[in-house]
Amino acid sequence: MRKDYILDRWVVIASQRGRRPSDFFEAKRGRVKKTVCPFCPGNEQLTPPATLIYLRDGGGVRKTVEKGGFRHKNWIIRCIPNLYPAFSPLDDQKPELEFKSTVFHKSMKALGFHEVLIESPFHDEHPSTARKFQLKLAINAIKDRFHYLSSRDYVKCISVFRNHGVNAGASLSHPHSQIVAMPILPKIIEEEAKASRNYYKAEGECIFCSIVEEEAKSERFIWENESFIVFAPWAALNPFEFWIFPKRHQSSILETTGIEVENLAETLRVSLSGLKSLLNDPPYNLGFHMLLENHYHWHVEVYPRLTIWAGLEKSTGMFINTVSPEDAAESLKESFKSEENMFKKSERSAIHA
Ligand SMILES: [Zn+2]
Ligand SMILES: [Zn+2]
Ligand SMILES: [Zn+2]
Repeated sequence: MRKDYILDRWVVIASQRGRRPSDFFEAKRGRVKKTVCPFCPGNEQLTPPATLIYLRDGGGVRKTVEKGGFRHKNWIIRCIPNLYPAFSPLDDQKPELEFKSTVFHKSMKALGFHEVLIESPFHDEHPSTARKFQLKLAINAIKDRFHYLSSRDYVKCISVFRNHGVNAGASLSHPHSQIVAMPILPKIIEEEAKASRNYYKAEGECIFCSIVEEEAKSERFIWENESFIVFAPWAALNPFEFWIFPKRHQSSILETTGIEVENLAETLRVSLSGLKSLLNDPPYNLGFHMLLENHYHWHVEVYPRLTIWAGLEKSTGMFINTVSPEDAAESLKESFKSEENMFKKSERSAIHA
């Protein structure tokens, strides 16, 4: 049994020896039904006005927004409000609902934002195959929205996540992420924040920096470049789970420099294509953990969806992972390496073309 570095969460590593990555291939993976894609260029009218648009402008990028019925064409990044938002901004036009709470029935207004970031105009340009240029745009758009949303006073936490594949909850296959700004700190982020605050007080350093330093030389290390490191977490809940950390201490993606954005683009590309090629394009969920607190250290967690959490997991919060993080790291390491080589070759030939 292993406990998470920080969270009060346990997992049983019950690896079945001799199990190979190919044993996780499904005979048939669910596919998104083919209908008109509202995220494809030309269908902008099917979506609400954008909160952020990137347009090509000479050699550079011009940023703008949309209002009313007008929609931009020829965008390279588009960020829109979710049509079915879980959280909505304060609306001066609408009367405030009253929220009453009792001891057993607590409630509050779901104040916040729920947006969709369309990561590319191309329907099939997923991060596992994307050009570095496009991934950099998507990362910069996350920075822009994070900057804007975190300046609202009722926003306590911003979650950026992506679902890939029907079995991971993606209802549309066009490459996109979601950005949710919430009025409270959800449990996992709160636990991480608390632990990093306490550790900083006691040890005078960042708990995540210390974890990264140890995992860099462990059997769970997978890949690194100048700015980022990837490893399989000690108490991974999911087979082939991996985490991505910036090497430099920084609390959110807002602190990344230009070269770090570039290196993050490479890290996402290499790791997600490595995952895809190792496990035959598995469904996965990916989440950014970020917080504007100095002791916190932002990171990305990637959870492949290869098993179904059933009775034990759902009823007790005790998990079983059938692939040890060390075995997962070994397979992922090899796959990342060959994807890195291919990616570098393709980027070079793109430059020469
Ligand atoms: Zn599309
Ligand atoms: Zn740190
Ligand atoms: Zn985390």
